[in-house]
Amino acid sequence: MNKNIFCVDIGGSKLICGALNQDGKILDTFRAEYPKNYTVDTVTTLILEGYRKLKQYNFYACGVAVPGLCDFASGRWLYSPFSGLGDIPIAQLIGHMTKLPTFADNDVNVSALAERRFGVCKAIDDFLWITVSNGIGGGLYLNGKLYRGKSLSAGEIGHFVVEEGGRKCGCGNYGCLEAHASGASITEIYYEKTGLDISAKEIADLARNGDKTALEIWQSAGSYIGKAAAYAVNLLNIDTVVLGGGAAEAFDLLATTATENLNKNLFSKANPNVKILHSAPGRYAALMGCAALVLENKKEN
Ligand SMILES: [Zn+2]
Repeated sequence: MNKNIFCVDIGGSKLICGALNQDGKILDTFRAEYPKNYTVDTVTTLILEGYRKLKQYNFYACGVAVPGLCDFASGRWLYSPFSGLGDIPIAQLIGHMTKLPTFADNDVNVSALAERRFGVCKAIDDFLWITVSNGIGGGLYLNGKLYRGKSLSAGEIGHFVVEEGGRKCGCGNYGCLEAHASGASITEIYYEKTGLDISAKEIADLARNGDKTALEIWQSAGSYIGKAAAYAVNLLNIDTVVLGGGAAEAFDLLATTATENLNKNLFSKANPNVKILHSAPGRYAALMGCAALVLENKKEN
């Protein structure tokens, strides 16, 4: 019987395909880095390679997470800020290659679905999911379902201005959360202060081993995340904020200042007991979200 799910997390710089069961357990993976100036053909060729390596797991459907804008209803990948790729019928292309019913959505949205189905929000109907990775994105889960917004871009918390006249953001504005607290910005800020060009993960390890500059940068990132989260909570009156994605693996370094600055900026009488939680799916939220997306939409054969 076909009961597993073929999951495809199309990242900005790399691809992960996974064989997942209906409990969100990752049975096997296939990973590939994209070459420079990759095209949609590069991506689909790698996905087919991943499918061939994993198809022994007997899939009944496929879920796809894409960076940038995606029209869930039509399965079209509309635009990716990393590669400039856009207007691609991604669900149709992968469905054609694999002969599987295929669903596609934005990677941050499906991460929120993963948290709800498999993670720390199983019993929580209203929460904000924040991806802290190379960039920062947000997914809104409200009244027990994903809120996608009028033109599919709800939850763009990465572009909340948290520092007037602050660092330049990829969106063209200054002082966005993404420019001050993403993994990429942590690498940049550390480089500016020390001349060392190392990854956010390496900077986190240094912070844990007593590097004061590294610790200050992570704490500052946490503080900005707390500020942006407070604005979102004041607007939505939700009591749960979940941090996931690769850079949120440094939750131990972010959580204290994030919580402090959240509480400082909250209308606290209206929003008692707001919590910032660490995602359970963590860095695999988007991949597990592909399975959650399928489970929301398609029963096994
Ligand atoms: Zn921005």
